[in-house]
Amino acid sequence: MGSDPAPGTPAVREHHVSPADPGRAAVGRPRTPGPVAAVPCLPAADVFAALAGGPHGLTPAEAAARQARYGANDLPAAVRGGLGRRLLAQFTDLFAVVLLVASAITFLAYLLGRPRDAATLELAVAILGVVLLNAGIGFAQEYSAERTAESLQAMVPHTCRVLRGGEPGELPARDLVPGDVVVLEAGDAVPADCRLVRAQEVAVNNAALTGESDAVARVADPVPAGAVLDARNCVFMGTDVVAGTAEAVVFATGTATEFGRIFRLTAAAPRQQTPLQRQVAAMARRVAGAALATGAVVFALRVPSGQPFVDTFVFALGVMVALVPEGLPATLSVSLAIGVRRMARRHALVKRLLAVEALGSTSVVCTDKTGTLTQAEMTVVRLWANGVPHPVTGVGYAPQGEVADAAPVRELLRAAALCGNARLVPPDGRDAWRVLGDTTEGALVVAARKAGLDPAAEEARTPRVAEYPFDSVRKLMSTVHRAADGTYVAYVKGAPLELLARCTAVGRDGAPVALTDAARTEVAAAADGMAGQGLRVLAVAARRVAGPRPPIGDVESELTLLGLAGMYDPPRPEVRDAVDACRRAGIRIVMVTGDHPLTAEAVARRVGIVRGPDPTVVTGGRLDALDDGGLDALLAGSAELLLCRVSPEHKMRVVTAFQRRGEVVAVTGDGANDAPALKHADIGVAMGASGTDVAREAAVMVLLDDSFASIATAVGLGRSVYRNIRKFLIYLFSHNIAELVPILAATLAGFPLVPITAVQVLAIDLGSDVLPALALGAEPAEPDVMDSPPRPRRERLFSAAVVGRILFLGGIQALGVCAVFFWHIHASGIPYADFTKDTPAYREAITLVQAGIVVSQFFNALAVRTDRQSVFRAGLLSNPWLLAAGGFGIALMAAVSYAPPLQAVFNTAPLTAADWAVLTGFGALLLAAEECRKRLLRRHPAAAKEGNR
Ligand code: ATP
Repeated sequence: MGSDPAPGTPAVREHHVSPADPGRAAVGRPRTPGPVAAVPCLPAADVFAALAGGPHGLTPAEAAARQARYGANDLPAAVRGGLGRRLLAQFTDLFAVVLLVASAITFLAYLLGRPRDAATLELAVAILGVVLLNAGIGFAQEYSAERTAESLQAMVPHTCRVLRGGEPGELPARDLVPGDVVVLEAGDAVPADCRLVRAQEVAVNNAALTGESDAVARVADPVPAGAVLDARNCVFMGTDVVAGTAEAVVFATGTATEFGRIFRLTAAAPRQQTPLQRQVAAMARRVAGAALATGAVVFALRVPSGQPFVDTFVFALGVMVALVPEGLPATLSVSLAIGVRRMARRHALVKRLLAVEALGSTSVVCTDKTGTLTQAEMTVVRLWANGVPHPVTGVGYAPQGEVADAAPVRELLRAAALCGNARLVPPDGRDAWRVLGDTTEGALVVAARKAGLDPAAEEARTPRVAEYPFDSVRKLMSTVHRAADGTYVAYVKGAPLELLARCTAVGRDGAPVALTDAARTEVAAAADGMAGQGLRVLAVAARRVAGPRPPIGDVESELTLLGLAGMYDPPRPEVRDAVDACRRAGIRIVMVTGDHPLTAEAVARRVGIVRGPDPTVVTGGRLDALDDGGLDALLAGSAELLLCRVSPEHKMRVVTAFQRRGEVVAVTGDGANDAPALKHADIGVAMGASGTDVAREAAVMVLLDDSFASIATAVGLGRSVYRNIRKFLIYLFSHNIAELVPILAATLAGFPLVPITAVQVLAIDLGSDVLPALALGAEPAEPDVMDSPPRPRRERLFSAAVVGRILFLGGIQALGVCAVFFWHIHASGIPYADFTKDTPAYREAITLVQAGIVVSQFFNALAVRTDRQSVFRAGLLSNPWLLAAGGFGIALMAAVSYAPPLQAVFNTAPLTAADWAVLTGFGALLLAAEECRKRLLRRHPAAAKEGNR
């Protein structure tokens, strides 16, 4: 296999099709009837040569050479504007603009003032500093959030099935090169631009390229010349296979693909704010409005006092700046991002921040069975043929074990193994025996080998000539094979009820006999018996057909039943505890499965989803018979609900019905057809290990380990993120009250100066408050986080209880701060009117106010850590980051009080040990008052419930 076009392929030469420069070919494609335009016109057999490959794929050496030449099959990370532009954007948000205007006015006031007041200049510079600092923090947050998103994305590997050197295997999609032969099936994302050379009932969704979301059929036959995008025998990177199976040859990779071309032209989509972020932004806007209004009121109150106009104006401006909640949006994003990272560490990969909050209020989880509740490690443990059960020994995919009395079940196993695409991979030192492809089909291959059959030899003896792929609506799969005598035989396997309905005969001692009603009942009873033991049951049938590609209706009718296979799939050991946790958390679990009701119930009992004697078991057929009202009544009726033998369309209907009832629904899915339900649910959950690319694309959360337990963990983490956000909001907003009240009190009392200057307020807001707020955002989950029912969907972040707590804590802080200020002023014995900025008692008093807020915020941070539980029980030291952040704030305050350069900037004075003791006493009082409030809440559960919000 050379890397140049094979010599002597006129079609190729004529059309200049060569992988030598696939990039140029791809880019020029739509406009010129040039090189790649020829690929769709070639017969399938010539395509390999055209792309200098062969039907067995490239050799590994050739693939490596091509990769070196063409580069990796991926697209560069989206560029979201230049760094400079993004930094500039930080200065255009509302707070930044308000603060910039404030800084400019203050600077003007300094210039116009006679004499010029250095403190006014300081304030102008400080406000500007705040804007810069905030912009820096915001920029860094955004950058790290993007990096997080990118690294999370990289955790879900995008692999594809490739033939290399005649051997099928799995490869990272980025390793594909032109000329590679890929195997595609329903649910796969198309990894590169490819020409189909074999197609069975293939349909693709080209929405990503054309915006048209209807599935379109694809074939392997040549088509007349035209635009490549319209060629019905090509599939393109970024689109999805929604049905069928195919083999295709890659003709363009990476940026040379159609998708790459569009990708280069499209700017990245703007990031969306989550509802929570919107609520906080709205609240912050309201507070900023209130700050402006308060500034205006203070200004109006102080003008008549005879103070210089400019001083009064700067004072009012200081009040306003004090109240603007700088740093809040950044803290919120950090907290959500921490949640995302924690979830990723626990195998739940959240693609959008939005999901973090929705997760916290999840009230219903609709879960699959196989792989999510069970290990998806199928072992055929029982066969049934000829009216007799045949136990099978051995566990897992190692073909070691025995089939009891194998002779009568050989034909059953031969058909089952031939009618499937899974491949058994022997241990390679690292892994044990494993299955490439569908695990159900893999288990059948293993059973066939245990009965002494060699599936590869059987396939060679009776080669497959057609396939009718499995889909979860038909619940059947069929293949047609050419027998040694030139006749054709079809094998069909699938769900027993579906298959039995299409059988007219049953194999008895190697010969078909009519399937009487009695025989039908006997087969159904055998299937039910296996399903009742929690086994997944497949029926297998065969028939002679007239030609190599008969219509599907002919293949899947008048069949002869060969027997049944029952396979065991052990439950995941961790699921039981997770189910218990969900129960305690008031989350309803509904199993939604395509499997048999008895299998479903047995598994549900094993993992604890069903405990009562009479769960409600509803089949897809019955769901079809229900109108929306009936469905609503059904969902409202039973706590233990199992939906069986359903198709993905049913899943979608059930999700919508739950949402109608006001539930927040998480739904799992792995197949391509699950995409609508995954998109529609509040939390679409896809499987990282076993799911299809399409499902992973549609979901907002991907489970790296596929386990239900990870959903429960993620819900717990989602709840704690929400709680943490509430904690730091209470923490941040309560101290604003402690800053504002003394200013208003001084104004009303006629004191001529401010009890705390704007520069001091900024030092608190950005120096000592930001780190504890971040540490609160990173609080570990409280142990009772899964002990209460889900948060109502419409609950507001700033509920009455939250605002009440802000007023309670802020009120106590304000009282303490006012007390120390006025006490110190009065103790000096100086009349109000004689106070100037340089009066030592004034400098001491404002230092006391600033330190008072810092110290009480330290205790406040401890107080807000728990909602109801005593913080002493939670462990005062259990969040060391918080203690360190609080300690840092106090150290900063000490520096402001004792370091001469800072004293000059802040107009502060050294505090005495007694001052610190008094302030600590006030802080301890705040903690004690909050402990009393929590105790009351614990004693009165009704109030506690409200207090929890
Ligand atoms: P689960 O909830 O266990 O994950 P599911 O909803 O994914 O199940 P499907 O995969 O749609 O269920 O399977 C439905 C039924 O179709 C199965 O019970 C089985 O009898 C049959 N079936 C499953 N896989 C195949 C296959 N590869 N070929 C033929 N029949 C199959």
